[in-house]
Amino acid sequence: MRPYLDDALREKKREGVAAEANKWPTAHLTWKLDHYSSRSDLRGKRAEVENALAKAMNTWAKVSKLRFTKTTSSQANIKIGFYTGDHGDNAAFDGRGGVLAHAYEPHWGMLHFDDRESWSTTAQSGRTGLDSVALHELGHILGLGHSANPKSVMYPYYTVPKTTLGQEDIQRIQALYGAPIR
Ligand code: ZN
Repeated sequence: MRPYLDDALREKKREGVAAEANKWPTAHLTWKLDHYSSRSDLRGKRAEVENALAKAMNTWAKVSKLRFTKTTSSQANIKIGFYTGDHGDNAAFDGRGGVLAHAYEPHWGMLHFDDRESWSTTAQSGRTGLDSVALHELGHILGLGHSANPKSVMYPYYTVPKTTLGQEDIQRIQALYGAPIR
């Protein structure tokens, strides 16, 4: 089975709807890594992991009016965590392989990584790249559904790890939040 990025939670109800159904009411969002990995391959690398997450957010911010600010507040818009198995959201992780992560639509703001995967901050042989998976999951967090275009980061399969947005991704995010002011 090809590793599947996620379950696209709370997205199913709008299948077949062309327009993005949901977005944040503000383009300035706060985020927090509030449940850190306990796995040895990321242990002690919190700063690196936060850097990889910030970089993925910046990739979306660069092509839109979106801005992301790291916070320690429990009121963060986007809450990111590493979890295993059943972790209380009715979407249990499946262990190594299969589903790598999942994220919720705007307003929910939850992004969870399956902590049983073999992660590294950037893709390398035998390790799943947190940066490319985060880029995809942030698309969901921001309101984007999946794309059938393999060049889009919203393509739901982890085949070629992507750290840059496709033209379609840029058009879709700008349709929701506007193009950057130059
Ligand atoms: Zn997805």
